[in-house]
Amino acid sequence: MIIKDKFYIGGQWAAPAGSGSIEVHSPTDGVLLARIPQGNAADADAAIAAARRAFDAWAATPPARRAELLKKIQEGLKARSEEIARTITLEMGMPLKLSQRIQVGSPTATFGMYARILGDFAFEETVGNSKVLREPAGVVVAITPWNYPLHQIAAKVAAALAAGCTVVLKPSEVAPLNAFALAEVIHEAGVPAGVFNLVTGFGPEIGEALVTHPQVDMVSFTGSTGAGKRISQVAANTVKRVALELGGKSAGIVLDDADFATAVAGVVGNCYLNAGQTCTAQTRLLVPAHRYDEAAAIAAATARSFKVGDPLHPDTTLGPLASKMQEDRVRDYIAKGIAGGAELLAGGTDLPADVPAGGYYVQPTVFGRVAPQAVIAQEEIFGPVLSIITYSDEDDAVRIANDSIYGLSGGVWSATDAHAEAVARRLRTGQVEINGGPFNIYAPFGGYKQSGNGRELGKYGLEDFLEYKSLQFKPPPKAA
Ligand code: NAD
Repeated sequence: MIIKDKFYIGGQWAAPAGSGSIEVHSPTDGVLLARIPQGNAADADAAIAAARRAFDAWAATPPARRAELLKKIQEGLKARSEEIARTITLEMGMPLKLSQRIQVGSPTATFGMYARILGDFAFEETVGNSKVLREPAGVVVAITPWNYPLHQIAAKVAAALAAGCTVVLKPSEVAPLNAFALAEVIHEAGVPAGVFNLVTGFGPEIGEALVTHPQVDMVSFTGSTGAGKRISQVAANTVKRVALELGGKSAGIVLDDADFATAVAGVVGNCYLNAGQTCTAQTRLLVPAHRYDEAAAIAAATARSFKVGDPLHPDTTLGPLASKMQEDRVRDYIAKGIAGGAELLAGGTDLPADVPAGGYYVQPTVFGRVAPQAVIAQEEIFGPVLSIITYSDEDDAVRIANDSIYGLSGGVWSATDAHAEAVARRLRTGQVEINGGPFNIYAPFGGYKQSGNGRELGKYGLEDFLEYKSLQFKPPPKAA
């Protein structure tokens, strides 16, 4: 078992103020994997004080030097990528071969990307008689979830450090071990003391102590919409900036002219990535009503082709859910779908066959002819559960897709990109994949509506951590 009993504060590994600890269980078989400290308000104070002390010097550090350090972090992560991928697979259950590419490859690239973006980012511009400066927002609290733990950390930490902010990170208590590895990498890279700090604990305890702290200038949060609302409310007393990346209920629209075999399988694959624990998951498959039978058959066959099991096994394509709580929640939604009268085309509430005992597994599930207003078509399930909804024409498809409190992502499939794009432009959502176009870390990521505010990644993510300051100069006297 792994024991973590220190926080990374002010450039050192420091003992927490209290003695509480949190258990981390392996989703593969439920076995106790690690213990981490349960931080409290005193730990929040210590980490914020360290970040505050480091701020002025870091904000004044030339961007080229900040870029050098980000590059070193990228190299440090790369050197430990095998080990970190395995750690993330053990703590949250994504199949190892996917973890290597997605859970470690993407965050590693994100640190490199910000080093590159700093190379030509304009921190100043002139507008009339004003010089407009872009200055770091200040001390940033980053609070992150467990589903793509290091990716979500990197999207915040790399951008904030690039901007000249100092950071206190509180990762998810469900999958925290990767954050300890990152702290070691950041330390070895030679990032000055206090620029990056790591604490762990429960959201309502140390999380709220961080969010409400008067010395914190900005909170960058990724997680559930419920926690995001709570964070916005408690942060409001100190009028700090709050950036939120929250949940989603994205639609994958298959247009009549699409190649159904590719498109339907593409949406199922998108929905089941990371066992459905992806905020951008296309969990609603929208198909023309007259092609329902064809789409249903492809979706069910694709679902059955997934191999559920131990995420360390090379044949596994769908691992366990990240926690017992998540398993219970997803199974409950599957039961609600059945009780609500949707057609069960694949999966169901039974435990999948041949999975390790004690693990948090559910069957990849497809519901057909789901009413757009059904609970399973409206609420974020965060598991491998797809709802097929039929539409009468393209206007109807757009209306159904937009009929959600969320607006994070989506997809449109057609015989031509131009046709798909025309439909994508009508969706009220932060991203749309055209014919399965891949994720791009240089493009802005974030949501409309209750999926959040602000944008991460690319230069847009850097801008989220900057304040504007205008210096007004007296215009030179006009020539007579
Ligand atoms: P969660 O909201 O329970 O927890 C996320 C983080 O917030 C954790 O570190 C937790 O300790 C902390 N937290 C919880 N309550 C808090 C509070 N009151 N104050 C301060 N911190 C608090 O979410 P989760 O279960 O870890 O993640 C799953 C959810 O996150 C899903 O709803 C998913 O859609 C969403 N998500 C969104 C994105 C995105 O970018 N839009 C990405 C990943 C996950």
